[in-house]
Amino acid sequence: MPSPPLPRRLLLGPGPSNVHPRVLQAMAQPLVGHLDPTFLAILDEVQERLRGLFGTGNAMTLPLSATGSAGMEACFANLLEPGDEVVIGVAGVFGLRMADVASRIGARVTQVETEPGTVLDGDAMTETIARVRPAVVAFVHAETSTGVLQPVEKIATAAREAGALVVLDCVTSLGGIPISLDEWGIDAAYSATQKCLSCPPGLAPVSFSARAVERASTRRTPVQSWYLDVNLLAGYFGQERVYHHTAPISAVFGLAEGLRLIEKEGMETRRARHSEAAKVLLEGMAPLGFQPLVDEPHRLPMLSALRLPAALGKAGEAALRRRLLDGYGIEVGAGLGKLAGSIWRIGLMGENARLTNVESLLNALRRELAQSEERPRRD
Ligand code: PLP
Repeated sequence: MPSPPLPRRLLLGPGPSNVHPRVLQAMAQPLVGHLDPTFLAILDEVQERLRGLFGTGNAMTLPLSATGSAGMEACFANLLEPGDEVVIGVAGVFGLRMADVASRIGARVTQVETEPGTVLDGDAMTETIARVRPAVVAFVHAETSTGVLQPVEKIATAAREAGALVVLDCVTSLGGIPISLDEWGIDAAYSATQKCLSCPPGLAPVSFSARAVERASTRRTPVQSWYLDVNLLAGYFGQERVYHHTAPISAVFGLAEGLRLIEKEGMETRRARHSEAAKVLLEGMAPLGFQPLVDEPHRLPMLSALRLPAALGKAGEAALRRRLLDGYGIEVGAGLGKLAGSIWRIGLMGENARLTNVESLLNALRRELAQSEERPRRD
């Protein structure tokens, strides 16, 4: 029996975002083997295009066969050993996830926290790095739980001066704003395909600098995860191209097409498109009572965190999101962690960062909010 048709959704939450039709077409191509020369040529192309997007010459740049969280695990599992010191900037849920992952590896974690909706304090990070002298410093570039864009260079410089390797989470930023790992002095970075790359979830682009690869290859203890060990991944994703695990071939076809589309548009045009869409969204949401959580210079263009109108309440916001989904096919994101029930997260990521999508959401919201005002109150 054929499976029932799925509804069409406009995915304006924190990810996944809608997938470009050409990516879906690419994924529907007939399978070839993961060692077939035609597939390896596509893999070469993907790795080269990822280097371009990450702004790096790192040879060990590859699409890891797993989601963004595995990219995070890969960075920590390779660069940290039990007992190592690590300083982690925590500006939201994904900074906290980093701390959890690092502590499970047995590293000694020092967290530098900031209030939700604010950036990490560069001075506090610098002081802590100088005091702790960690092996690794890690933080999130685009904190999806709060909508904050973290300035990178000051913290990365302090880390490098203290001899630490720097890990950067680029899950939400890659493909939406320019990234320059080499210029910023980042040693390991990871992303995911379901946000600004406009592909389905399932791959985690990662990049390791030569310093990071050296750290991984001169460890006292083997990398605890066989699957994520860069020393072993290098066999397949490096020059040799020998079997390590079976690459998710169709997903790589899709990513190749997604990366071609980004190259064709150009990163500057893409960045401007994301900024324009976010600006129009905020202008339209303000009269409806939704105010930005984050101050102007640190707002993410691809993900807006908005405080809810006071009248909406916790139950009201969940009901309104449900009405948007059921009545208009539009998904927006709820608050996460400490911000659950008090903000919405509206993503305009990759292909979705278009004014027509902003208009669809604003029109639906205007209609729904007007109807709730007309509806008699029961209390
Ligand atoms: N880091 C950030 C900043 C994220 O936004 C996410 C997912 O939303 C992740 C890590 C984890 O990625 P995934 O859900 O693909 O495992």
